[in-house]
Amino acid sequence: MHDRTALITGGSRGIGRAIALELARAGADVAITYRRDEAAARETVAQIERAGGRSVAVQADVSQRTDNERSVAEARAALGTIDLLVCNAGIASRGRSVEHSELDEFERVMGVHVLGAVQLCKLLLDDLRAGPRGDVILIGSVLTQLLPPNSAPYAMAKAAEEAFAMMLAKEERANGIHVNVVAPGLVATDMGDRLAVATMGATEQAADLDAVSPFGRVCRPEDVANAVRFLASEDAGYITGHRLAVDGGGAWQGG
Ligand code: NDP
Repeated sequence: MHDRTALITGGSRGIGRAIALELARAGADVAITYRRDEAAARETVAQIERAGGRSVAVQADVSQRTDNERSVAEARAALGTIDLLVCNAGIASRGRSVEHSELDEFERVMGVHVLGAVQLCKLLLDDLRAGPRGDVILIGSVLTQLLPPNSAPYAMAKAAEEAFAMMLAKEERANGIHVNVVAPGLVATDMGDRLAVATMGATEQAADLDAVSPFGRVCRPEDVANAVRFLASEDAGYITGHRLAVDGGGAWQGG
């Protein structure tokens, strides 16, 4: 991936950081965005630079239109034309029923997962079309298969994100752009830790569930990063409009 330049939203921690490190390891230049945790974002960049790669971090809330315009401009200024966009930044919803979820929460979660991704794709279409190949990879979720109760804002947002990806894939195929979704189950990150403790009986963190998970472990961020690297590689040159589940073969824990 030595001729590729990636923009990864939410690259300061968790899955986004693993994707940034993996794409950089494969040779790509990597811009990451983050919302609040500047120290964590700097650490991602430092790890890439220590390994000899090029990277830049931009503070930008993906739900804010002016932030997205700025992050694209700053990433381009630092690294050049972006030919790989990874929409990863995400927030969970509060685990309440529709009755007890405020409209503000639906709006907030949709703003991050859906509208932010849509806007970034629109801002980057010219870049993505410019070279021999462009890629958009969206981090979805296995929840869109399950649609369980008490998860409406998040699961709806992930479902809309996937639908967007499948339509964009059809529209942009003629322009050389591949659009794919990577859909993890539970992943051992800050978000996954909170989810595992709140809803799955973990004591402290997602990794507490290793022994009862497929292949003896909960999914790690690197598992998701490997799938992203594959989808953006020449090995996946004939794959677009695909949703790749990274869930150990079960739709959710034990599923
Ligand atoms: P984390 O909470 O560990 O990390 C979230 C990342 O997104 C951070 O870098 C955070 O930045 C960034 N972020 C959050 N909100 C915004 C925003 N408004 N603008 C810009 N950046 C933002 O989450 P994960 O790594 O677990 O999740 C990554 C993706 O994977 C999400 O889309 C999530 O929905 C999805 N996913 C996660 C699963 C899991 O079990 N963990 C399962 C299935 C899907 P900062 O550090 O500044 O806060």
